[in-house]
Amino acid sequence: MCSIDEKKRVLRKNIASKKKCFSPSILEERSEKILQKMELLPEFIHAKCVFLYYSMPDEVATHAFVMKWAETKEIYLPVIEEGEMKLRIYSPDNRLRIGAYNILEPQGDLCSDFQLIDFAIVPGVAFDRLGFRLGRGKGYYDRVLPLLTCRKAGICFDFQIVQNVPADEWDVPMDYVISEEELIITSHKALSR
Ligand code: ADP
Ligand code: MG
Repeated sequence: MCSIDEKKRVLRKNIASKKKCFSPSILEERSEKILQKMELLPEFIHAKCVFLYYSMPDEVATHAFVMKWAETKEIYLPVIEEGEMKLRIYSPDNRLRIGAYNILEPQGDLCSDFQLIDFAIVPGVAFDRLGFRLGRGKGYYDRVLPLLTCRKAGICFDFQIVQNVPADEWDVPMDYVISEEELIITSHKALSR
């Protein structure tokens, strides 16, 4: 029998090898399609304050999207400080700096109250149709997501939606999972709200 940890590791490897089949320009094109669907969600449209992420090269590309929406919404991005994920406000006027894991991070004010976030857009290595998420293995999002009261959308490419993400008790399910071809509304949302 495989432990949950081992299953997660195998799944991360599988997805990494699938990603190699796609060129960066194809993934960029697909990213636009995913985000075009995302921005039609009523929760996103009405949100004043959105928790987004500044993408790494192998994730759904969000750089242009962050810039675009920062004009009309408050956009918070993750920063890793003192070994944990915090949220700082993004401003097009302020330069991003290279943070932990070579991810660009904003230098704006810290989010003082996670309840102010109206909508969260979350990257993942894989998602399943119940909304469970596999991350990169550090659990940063696992410690932040329970503190949010807003709806959460996982975004990923089609090949990252899998039958079953092995979940531990700390893994918080998403309310939506959105890829190029799918817009999944998970049952958790209906059950819990
Ligand atoms: P990921 O979500 O990044 O794919 P995991 O869900 O396996 O990875 O979590 C990675 C590690 O993060 C876990 O092994 C666990 O030790 C730690 N972790 C996750 N959630 C919490 C939590 N709420 N409090 C403390 N540690 C946590
Ligand atoms: Mg997790």
